[in-house]
Amino acid sequence: MKYISTRDNSKEFSFNQVFLKGLADDGGLFVPKSIKKFDKKKLNSLSRLNYKELANEIIYSFTGNFIPKNNLKKIIDKSYSVFREKNVVDLIQVGDRKILELFHGPTLAFKDIAMQLLGNFYEYYLTKKKDNINIVVATSGDTGAAAIDAIKGKKGINIFVLHPYNRISLVQRKLMTTIKENNVFNIAVKGNFDDCQNLVKLMFTDKQFSNSIKMSGVNSINWARIIAQSVYYFYAYFLINDDTRPVNFSVPTGNFGDVYAGYLAKKMGLPINKFIVATNQNDILHRAISNGVYEVGKAVETISPSMDIQVASNFERLIYDLNNGDDKKTRSIMKKIKDKGKYIIEKNKLNKIKLNFDSSSMNNKQIIETIKLVYSKYNIVLDPHSAIGYGAFDRVKLEGNNIVLATAHPCKFPDAVKLAIKKKHELPNSLKYIMTEKENYEIMPNNLQHIQSYIKNKI
Ligand SMILES: *Cc1c(COP(=O)(O)O)cnc(C)c1O
Repeated sequence: MKYISTRDNSKEFSFNQVFLKGLADDGGLFVPKSIKKFDKKKLNSLSRLNYKELANEIIYSFTGNFIPKNNLKKIIDKSYSVFREKNVVDLIQVGDRKILELFHGPTLAFKDIAMQLLGNFYEYYLTKKKDNINIVVATSGDTGAAAIDAIKGKKGINIFVLHPYNRISLVQRKLMTTIKENNVFNIAVKGNFDDCQNLVKLMFTDKQFSNSIKMSGVNSINWARIIAQSVYYFYAYFLINDDTRPVNFSVPTGNFGDVYAGYLAKKMGLPINKFIVATNQNDILHRAISNGVYEVGKAVETISPSMDIQVASNFERLIYDLNNGDDKKTRSIMKKIKDKGKYIIEKNKLNKIKLNFDSSSMNNKQIIETIKLVYSKYNIVLDPHSAIGYGAFDRVKLEGNNIVLATAHPCKFPDAVKLAIKKKHELPNSLKYIMTEKENYEIMPNNLQHIQSYIKNKI
């Protein structure tokens, strides 16, 4: 299994390198040199597997000689035994559509599904190599908690998490800052998520710094996260078990990571019909897909903070695909986006996008109305992100089996949920203690040197 960068496909990388680096040195994203397609017979045999077995098959097809299949199985068993659902996810019927609950992991959002696996990949690798590394990651609220839970207490790794100061929910913050293990460091940056993400990118491209601290990244561009997320598209598709009607997914999106994982499943041969890219008011992807104008706007704060993003990093993988793997073209488009903040998608490429994707956008008021409606009709409480996924199927009409990805547990966003249903949603008993626990985090300016020297001092 060989990988290349979307901005220079002349060099090859192993899964090992791809997973540890996260981002390519040229600023591009790693993608497989070629993707193996499952045929009908193989899909049929995969459809009979439980979640862990299925994960083992799918993930193994990407990991090359990083890990023997049997060791991978052990890691998958360990990663997914911390979930509250035996098969990790749950699929429930709600009115005319299905909801795929992805939030049964330790930090109550879908990010646990990839991150638990990554934490154990690091442990496996570092134990073998007797090496140590430092993870630096930006979070819009959920990645940080999931990464901290997966890395806390592990030998040979420190984790530094940058979150936008005062722009994440209280529960999101406390899930990160009440962790006691001394390899965990929380930094609240005076800025928004895009600022945090930009700081991490700058640290990576500062080779002197990133090499000196053996920096590694777990942001949603990390290929290992994408493959772990592809698994639940397969799993849900097989649960539906209906060859007669198309299967569509609506995916609440910020960084285009989760929805790209679904698109990858389709590229691997899973006959999914369409994906709805469901956004909040930070609707750069909705504007791109509906009008062909990818134009970076100003990030606004919404009640769905994990999607308050204006630079959808994983979109570069789709751009590479649309240009049939032309690395030079991809590089020049990415440069244009960086310099001008704008990219007009050519008509023929936009048509290609529309074969696989639709899009929608919802504002705060519409999100609240959706939570209220679903609660009053079906007695189900959606978190604001999942509500965006749900509401998308009312805005984009698709025939068939419609599956909404529920990306977070409603108790993670109690204030937004209370606005809608006048009821406070409680944390699970096992997590109630975080509300009174002492918090540890440092507030810092949006300044590269300042944060770099903090990190150097701590390691
Ligand atoms: C991260 C996150 C999203 C967006 O996922 P992307 O991979 O960035 O598209 C949606 N909902 C929740 C709850 C999240 O934490």
